[in-house]
Amino acid sequence: MKLIITDMEKMAEGFRKNLGIKEDNFLDPLKIKIKEIEVITLDELKQINEKEKSYLLNDVSKQWSAMSVPLDETFKKWVIVRNHNNNKERQSVSILEEYWHILLEHQLTKIIKFGKFYGRSFESDEEHDAYYLASATLLPQKNIKNFVNQSNNNIEALAMKFGVSTELIEYRIKRLGLWSVYKSKFLFDKTRISLIKD
Ligand SMILES: [Zn+2]
Repeated sequence: MKLIITDMEKMAEGFRKNLGIKEDNFLDPLKIKIKEIEVITLDELKQINEKEKSYLLNDVSKQWSAMSVPLDETFKKWVIVRNHNNNKERQSVSILEEYWHILLEHQLTKIIKFGKFYGRSFESDEEHDAYYLASATLLPQKNIKNFVNQSNNNIEALAMKFGVSTELIEYRIKRLGLWSVYKSKFLFDKTRISLIKD
């Protein structure tokens, strides 16, 4: 199922509101507690051996960030295994993405291969929705709109404030249809565009 952007923005806002996090405040996904969903690091996973752990954490570490594993047949209980070798910014968005997959009852239908391992993932529409929702949960649209409308935007400062990567902010700007507005500001930058003096 593909959700529409206005609905996803509302869902992300509702999620933050439920947690009591103000629009301007940083949200740490590791502080969120959801009933019947546990988040653990790969090191804490007992089902695989040290050699396999090392392979997942070193050899193919860049290929995965977090994965959801159902713990019962009714898909009520879940564990999210996170790759603690990846940076915090990437893990934050990945944990939230997994939360949204589970909360929206996305089905693990696609078989994926990373390195020598096989796993299951979600359909691509659901991947897009969950990623969108995760980014919107971390970065409320009001903040993105305000940022784009500022005359001197400091993307690094905004990324720091919300604990995300600058790429995630750019993704939000693009998906909210504000990319041209954001980029067009350089047109008024006299250090970049000016007339050659005679
Ligand atoms: Zn996903």
